[in-house]
Amino acid sequence: MIYTDYHVHSTLSHDGISTMNEHIEKAISQGLKELCFTEHYDIYDGVKSNLKTIDVENYNNEFLKLKEVYKDKINLKFGIEIGLQPDIEEIIKGMVKKYDFDFVIGSSHITCKKDISKDISFFEGISRHQAYMKYFNEVLKNITIYDEFDVYGHIDYIVRYGGYEDKTLEYDEFSDILDEILKLIIKKDKGIEVNTSGIRYGLNTPHPNVDIIKRYKELGGSIITIGSDAHRCEDLCSNFEDVKDMLKDLGFTYYTIFDKRKPIFIDL
Ligand SMILES: [Zn+2]
Ligand SMILES: [Zn+2]
Repeated sequence: MIYTDYHVHSTLSHDGISTMNEHIEKAISQGLKELCFTEHYDIYDGVKSNLKTIDVENYNNEFLKLKEVYKDKINLKFGIEIGLQPDIEEIIKGMVKKYDFDFVIGSSHITCKKDISKDISFFEGISRHQAYMKYFNEVLKNITIYDEFDVYGHIDYIVRYGGYEDKTLEYDEFSDILDEILKLIIKKDKGIEVNTSGIRYGLNTPHPNVDIIKRYKELGGSIITIGSDAHRCEDLCSNFEDVKDMLKDLGFTYYTIFDKRKPIFIDL
């Protein structure tokens, strides 16, 4: 059994549904030994959005209280999911330095100053291929700029958006840029996550898809975390057994957890 979940949002995130307490209680009832919260941290400067950046100080305080309360029942980890953007380097570096994170996911949510999940103008006037390339180029730029992340989140997240009927992503169509992304992640001793929300989202595949995970392994990638991206506690560890089988089929013999941003490898 995969005994932890490394991508979880509570009501402290703008789109969270379950409280931290509800997630923790559910995790304990499911027999998890550990749970890693990864609340959203996105910067909306220059972006058309009414959302606000999370108050990390408040998150840290709430977390530390609960870690103490539940210390004999479950090991709680302090993580964050940062929406990386190339031009907010100082804000991100300062924030990550200030807190004692166990784990940091770097993701692309706002791309080219647009929230791709909501702002369709990102996709307008260009082809699907061009839109995906615009997204992947910014992912690559973020990986080049930042060291303040441990794994890159849901690398092919773009496939959910743009309103295209076909939500599959063929590795071959984007092999050059995907290889560049994966090679740089590996070179920087970072990793990727397997994010099972894609399966819940009806895509029939986790993020990234199996071909990309396979390629990551072929290129020598080893750090790989498993996260549900649960926003409600019912989704904790969803489809983790399927992912476990998939990773084993691809030749992985372990998955990764983090402690104070240092990877620890756990047998699958
Ligand atoms: Zn995300
Ligand atoms: Zn998330």
